[in-house]
Amino acid sequence: MRRSSNQDSGYASSRLLAIADGMGGAAAGDLASSEAMNIIRELDRDLDVDALDALAQAVKLANARLGELIRRDPAVEGMGTTLEVMLWDGEKFAVAHLGDSRAYRLREGVLTQISDDHTFVQSLVDEGRISRDEARVHPHRSLLLRALLGRDDNEADLSWLQPHLGDRYLLCSDGLTDMVTDDVIARAMASETIDMAATELVRLALEAGGVDNVTVVIAEFVEAGTDPDEHLSCADGQPQLVGAASQQARPRTGNAASGHDEPVNFDPEELRYAPREPSRRRWLRWTAALVVVAAILAAAGTYAYKWTQDQYFVAAQDGKVAIFRGVQVDIPGLTLQHVEELTDISLTSLSDFQRRQIESGVEASSRADAYKTVAELDITPPAPTATPTPTKTTPSTKASRTPTAANVVWRP
Ligand code: CA
Repeated sequence: MRRSSNQDSGYASSRLLAIADGMGGAAAGDLASSEAMNIIRELDRDLDVDALDALAQAVKLANARLGELIRRDPAVEGMGTTLEVMLWDGEKFAVAHLGDSRAYRLREGVLTQISDDHTFVQSLVDEGRISRDEARVHPHRSLLLRALLGRDDNEADLSWLQPHLGDRYLLCSDGLTDMVTDDVIARAMASETIDMAATELVRLALEAGGVDNVTVVIAEFVEAGTDPDEHLSCADGQPQLVGAASQQARPRTGNAASGHDEPVNFDPEELRYAPREPSRRRWLRWTAALVVVAAILAAAGTYAYKWTQDQYFVAAQDGKVAIFRGVQVDIPGLTLQHVEELTDISLTSLSDFQRRQIESGVEASSRADAYKTVAELDITPPAPTATPTPTKTTPSTKASRTPTAANVVWRP
């Protein structure tokens, strides 16, 4: 109901079920989701190797593919996708899971989530700090700890799953689970046919607001040789491909808004991934600083000074985050910056990564951009304070589950 493009991809055949929920803004989310899906669906053939090995290999390939695309076109840096895959080997399912798309099983009327969300809130649930109900409405519920990002530090969960006759399986993107509770999903999944269940689930998610793309893949485990109901969408035995992977690749022009789409001021998907590496900003800043110095030396002093006063950046002041007007460069005898606004965000409330970013200064293209940078600092999850034991002084305890900026992906 809100998105101008579909960044989910879904696939269903008699032996392969898959969902990929892309992220990374504009055309990049579509690209990540469809590229990954197009590699994963190559598994839909007679396999001559162990299904779990084949699945692991395909996930690796998809990851390498995203990495390659990002290296070729830095504009798509930060794109990624979730993955939820079930591959039938004739006796059991090989399952791969990465991100916050989910797999559910309906067995004898009981719905069970069989994947664990790779999210910050799920880690809080696992540690008993919050309940599942609290997780559903938690302000940081969209923070992903793992996704397919083209890097080598995000592994998928791989497992075997033994189905029972009559089981129904649901793979879905968070566009469903953010909108609809498990109880409602359970009722819909018990519909007379899987087609009815799919239609009902999408309808319910849209009716509840439909703020994100909604994709569901539903399968029923039946005896081999059973003819499917001729009214089912799978009756022709053909694989079904939906979403981004089923659409023609769009040219990447950097301007995702097309004429007939509803006006979108900014794509919320832009916020789903980790902040850019500080190195690039530093380079930009030095470039800007050198340009400013050169301009001043060229005796265009007044003009250059005015230009500097239209520039903004976010940096530290008195231990707090501040928005500065001007440029971040020291020239003896010249003051080219002043504090536009001192926020009450303390540097100590930020993650190490963000604190370092702020300390070295973050360029902004405008005053609004500077405010946006500050607003985005809220994405840093609060440091866990529920545990009174200071973990930093006990290096032998298991690694803290608090996400670091390097492994956090933000999804609104
Ligand atoms: Ca989504």
